[in-house]
Amino acid sequence: MSAESKKAHNFIQSLIEDAIETGQHTGQVITRFPPEPNGYLHVGHAKSICLNFGIAETFGGECNLRFDDTNPEKESQEYIDAIKQDVEWLGYQWAGDVYYASDYFDQLYGFAEELIQKGKAYVCALTADEMAQYRGSLTEPGKNSPYRDRPVEESLQLFRDMRDGKFKNGELVLRAKIDMSSPNINMRDPILYRIRYADHHQTGDKWCIYPMYDFTHPISDALEGITHSLCTLEFEDHRPLYDWVLDNITIPCHPRQIEFARLNLNYTITSKRKLKRLVDENVVDGWNDPRMPTISGMRRRGYTPQSIRAFCDMIGINKAGGIVDVGMLEFAVREDLNARAPRAMCVMRPLKVTLSNYPEDKTETLVLPVHPQNPEMGEREVSWSQTLYIDREDFEMEPPRKWKRLAPEQAVRLRGGYVMTCKEVVRDEAGQIVELKCEYDPNTLGVNPEGYKANGVIHWVSATDSVEADINLYDRLFNHESPDSDKDGDFLDHLNPESLVVLRGARVEKSLAEPREDLPYQFEREGYFFCDPALTKEAGKPVFNRTVTLRDSWGKGGK
Ligand code: ATP
Ligand code: MG
Repeated sequence: MSAESKKAHNFIQSLIEDAIETGQHTGQVITRFPPEPNGYLHVGHAKSICLNFGIAETFGGECNLRFDDTNPEKESQEYIDAIKQDVEWLGYQWAGDVYYASDYFDQLYGFAEELIQKGKAYVCALTADEMAQYRGSLTEPGKNSPYRDRPVEESLQLFRDMRDGKFKNGELVLRAKIDMSSPNINMRDPILYRIRYADHHQTGDKWCIYPMYDFTHPISDALEGITHSLCTLEFEDHRPLYDWVLDNITIPCHPRQIEFARLNLNYTITSKRKLKRLVDENVVDGWNDPRMPTISGMRRRGYTPQSIRAFCDMIGINKAGGIVDVGMLEFAVREDLNARAPRAMCVMRPLKVTLSNYPEDKTETLVLPVHPQNPEMGEREVSWSQTLYIDREDFEMEPPRKWKRLAPEQAVRLRGGYVMTCKEVVRDEAGQIVELKCEYDPNTLGVNPEGYKANGVIHWVSATDSVEADINLYDRLFNHESPDSDKDGDFLDHLNPESLVVLRGARVEKSLAEPREDLPYQFEREGYFFCDPALTKEAGKPVFNRTVTLRDSWGKGGK
C-alpha cells in the first residue's frame, strides 16, 4: 500500500472501492487533471490536482494532464508552461505526454458529423439573443428553434461550410437535438460548435470552428480511457449532457463523472478571471506575486509543496460546499516549516547597541544550532563584538508591566550570547533614539546572571559580520472575509492597504549572506522568510519575502 492510501478516506475513494468490490469497475483507475490554459493555477486547482493524482496513486492507476483548450482567444503558451511547472512542483507526474483537447479536434469534428447524420444535431441560425429567448427559463420550458427540423443533409452541408470558413463569426452554430422542455436547461439543445476566427496556440489557423466544453470534455475523457472524471459541483447539472454525448456517438468508453465541492477560502479570490484583473491592473506584481493565491505566488512566498498537499489532506473532499478558513493553510505552512526551516537571526529595524565594556578590536565566535530540535541540521556561527544591532521594537523607554525585552537599566539576554544591561540612551537632534550604550556581563554565556534577572531573550546581529537585506512583509491581500461577495461593489474595494510593507536596510546574520533557495528560514521571533532570487539579483543584496508569521496574529493587533 502506498503512503497515500493510508490517508483519510474521501467519498470518491469509497465509491471507487465499492465499485471494485462489486465488480462494477474492473481494470486500472485513470483520472485526469484538465485545466484550461487561460491563467495560472491557484490553490483551488491544488485541491483538484491532489485529488486526481492522489486517487490514481491510491489505486495504482494513472493521471493525465490535459489542457482543455477550446477557447483560443483566452489561452496561451505562457499559461501552459506555468501550469506544467506548477503540477510538477507540487510533486506529481502525469502519465505519458501532456494531452490537449485540441489533439482531438479532428475526432471531435467526426463525432459531430455522426450526431448530425443520426438526426441528433442540427445547424441553427438563431442569433444569440433569439436563442436566449427560445431557451426559456427555470420556470418556463423553451421553444423549438425553427431550424431544428431542417433535413440532415442540409445541416451536414452547412456544418461543412462552417468548417470551411464560408460564414462569419456567430452566424451559425451546431446544436444538439435533445429536449427544449427539459427541466435541466443544459439539455435544451445546447450548442456543440461555434464559429471563431481565431488562431489557436496548438492548431494555428487550421480551424475556424471550435467545439464547446460540454461536447469536448466527455469525448476527450473517453478517448483517453479515463475511468473517473472528477469535477467540481457546478458540473453536476451538466452530467446528463456528459452522458448524453457519450451515449449517442460510437465510442467504446464511458467514464463516470463524479462531482465534489470547490475550495473556497476566506480572504481569498479563487477565480482566474479576477486574478487576471489583479495582474492586468497592476494591483500585484504579476501572477506570481507572493500575495497571490496562485501556486506560483505561494511558491515565491515560501510555501512548500508538502505544506500545500498537507492542507489539501486536511480539508478533505466532500460534496457540500463551504468556506475554509485561510488560517488552515497558514497553519499547514507553519507546521511544515517549523519542522524543517533552518533558524537565523534578522534584525528588521536595526537599533545600534554599543557594549561599552567590550574591547573595540575584539570579536568572539558563538555557535548556535541551525535547528534546536534537529541537531543533525548542524550548527551556525555568529560573532559577538562591541557593536551590535537589536530591533527598535525590542526597546521601550517606559516599558509596560511584564516587559520581556530591553528598557533603561534593565537586562536582557541576546539569543545564544550574553546578558546585557542598558545604561544610556543616545538621541539625535530631533530626539530620536539612535543608539543604546549597554554593558554586557561576561559571566553569562549559557548561564544565568548572578544576583539579578534578565527580562527575556531577544535576537540581534553583530555589526561586524551581519549583512544588509531588504524584507518584504506580506500579509493577506484582502481585508474582507469574502472580498467578492458584495454584489454592488467590486472586490478591489477590499484590498488590504498593508498587504505589503517593505523594510529596507534590515540586517541579517552572515549565514544568510548567500541564502538557500530551496527552503524558507525561520527568522527567530519573527516568522518564516524565503529568499526571492529575482529581487535579490535586482537589489544586489538578499531580499526576503515573509511566508507567514510565527503565530496567527491576524486581527489581534500584529505580533
Ligand atoms: P476558474 O473559475 O478559476 O477559472 P476553472 O474551473 O474554470 O476555474 P479550470 O482550468 O477549468 O478552471 O480548472 C481545472 C480543474 O480544476 C477543473 O476540474 C476544476 O473543476 C478544478 N478547479 C478549479 N477551481 C477549483 C476550486 N476552487 N476548487 C477545486 N477544484 C477547482
Ligand atoms: Mg473551467
